[in-house]
Amino acid sequence: MYPQNDITQENNNGIRIDEPDNILVCDGLVKIYKTDDVEVLALQGLELEIKRGELVAIIGKSGSGKSTLLNMIGGLEKPTAGRLYVDGHDLFAMNEKGLVEYRRKSVGFVWQNSGQNLFPYFTALQNVEAPLYFDRMSQKERREKAMSLLKMIGIDHRAQSYPAQMSGGEQQRVAIAVALAHDPQILLADEPTGAVDSKTSNMIQDIFRRINEETGITIIIVTHDLSLANKVSRVIMISDGKISTEKIMKEKYREQLDNMTTESLAQVESHEEYSILDKAGRVQLSQDTLEMAGIESNKVRVEVKDGKIIISK
Ligand code: ADP
Ligand code: MG
Repeated sequence: MYPQNDITQENNNGIRIDEPDNILVCDGLVKIYKTDDVEVLALQGLELEIKRGELVAIIGKSGSGKSTLLNMIGGLEKPTAGRLYVDGHDLFAMNEKGLVEYRRKSVGFVWQNSGQNLFPYFTALQNVEAPLYFDRMSQKERREKAMSLLKMIGIDHRAQSYPAQMSGGEQQRVAIAVALAHDPQILLADEPTGAVDSKTSNMIQDIFRRINEETGITIIIVTHDLSLANKVSRVIMISDGKISTEKIMKEKYREQLDNMTTESLAQVESHEEYSILDKAGRVQLSQDTLEMAGIESNKVRVEVKDGKIIISK
């Protein structure tokens, strides 16, 4: 369908896939799950670009395609159509061997359920060491690296504990250290704070923000937690397998972020909301927006007035 091997050029739709700043490019990404009798269109031509070093939150209702997107970025599933480039790799064209290598080197995963992240019969330290067994490292180097990661996350006092001896929040912090062990370019977290209380959730969010600032690693977090979204410079909303709107943090708010409490944060308008205009000129309007404008029919008037586009009944 698409010409292959043109990674250094502009593709059919004009997205620069060789843009050096972009660590992720999704271009018309489609994912169809086929079960015995039904086909589920989990992603419907999703467009997304993420720059190296960004910290991005993805929010959306259950079933909107968030996990599907993360699983494809993580090389766990293949798209049905479209293009997906991560860290210079064409994931659509990659064979199984390439994908295994990619998963081992380029991405780190943190799941919601900490049981999925950690080996129950390993201590915290052993869990962080585990991904390093494939690297050419002495036992001492492995231990030192694992320990320094636990220190960075502030959980080194639990190095000798087993998962069952730790709280949910502690387990998730160890899981973050595990995900970072092989120095991935991109860290993917699927509802990492879904199973912890709000105080712990806050602490985990701050860890993501800090490691993003300190190491420059690109982080994509899927979350239900709107307070997390308020602390992230870019919030992407998915509905029906497509990106509907994006919120970009106001510069002024970003400057104040470190000096504000959670309570005062909630009272400031942190982000500006943008709708996504796709390359075919389509804009998705939310049901709320349509209701507020009293639009019920599937036909609308579109006019340009004073440099603005007005959509009305
Ligand atoms: P979210 O993470 O936003 O809740 P998902 O990406 O898990 O949404 O799911 C998107 C849609 O795809 C849903 O309708 C879901 O039922 C469907 N889906 C997800 N995974 C599978 C699968 N392995 N087989 C069939 N359908 C799936
Ligand atoms: Mg999900």
